[in-house]
Amino acid sequence: MVAVRRRLSLLVAIGLVLFTACGVDTPAPEPRNPPAPPSLSSPSASSAPSTPPSSAPKPPPSTQQPPKAGKVVVLDPGHNGGNSGNPGEINRKVPAGRGKTKPCNTTGTSTNSGYPEHAFTFDVAQRVAEALSAKGVRVVLTRQNDSGIGPCVDERAAIGNEAGADAVVSIHADGSNSAGSNGFHVAYSAPPLNAQQGAPSTKLATTLRDGLRAGGFTTANYIGSNGLAPRADLAGLNLSTRPAALVECGNMRNSGEAAAMASAEGRQRYAAVIAKAIEDYLAG
Ligand code: ZN
Repeated sequence: MVAVRRRLSLLVAIGLVLFTACGVDTPAPEPRNPPAPPSLSSPSASSAPSTPPSSAPKPPPSTQQPPKAGKVVVLDPGHNGGNSGNPGEINRKVPAGRGKTKPCNTTGTSTNSGYPEHAFTFDVAQRVAEALSAKGVRVVLTRQNDSGIGPCVDERAAIGNEAGADAVVSIHADGSNSAGSNGFHVAYSAPPLNAQQGAPSTKLATTLRDGLRAGGFTTANYIGSNGLAPRADLAGLNLSTRPAALVECGNMRNSGEAAAMASAEGRQRYAAVIAKAIEDYLAG
């Protein structure tokens, strides 16, 4: 009896390791519908039959569930490493919402010493993905490496829409040359073009703003208001049918912020607060 119990708990432990280790970069369908946490209201038929009728000593399965199991977050690291070498490809016009078109993608900015925005956004997104995956969130990235071209802004939006994301967060850094410009801001689509761009996206943006501010980051002094920027010209936000926001983590042309962005420690700080804010949003 004791031996059987021990073997059972070993199996549970192995299952947990497998579950938490999967799903960072892969849009794989497998964890799409993990066994629904019984605490949530849907009495889904699929999760019912797995428990044999009378094995009394088993712990309640709810204590074994990662808290954010079943949630899907799409992280969109801005730009890509191959964009600058392929102007024809990235300059072609694609739908940008509100009846407009825009270039497929852009090269992004860089620090004065040449650390590129695309590398920053990709690294931060991976760190956020790791933190969220550890909490049981299924994370989908809009690009899988930092050496490719695009994807175009409309494709990035489509990835979030098709994933049925609970939250879509684009990660960028700004490149303002006006003297003294610094701080982060979070953009959201305004005026909203659908219900998800309304209250849910505003709440996501506000939660990210609050998290970054609580994490010690300063709100932008050159754009937006109190760290928030309603925007009608960002294709990824315009085309989203899911709650979506875009974080400009800071100004890469500001020496202090550039130093933070170019260091692994600094990127980890950004990632930790962004991941925490996304968690807070999902919990709300
Ligand atoms: Zn950018």
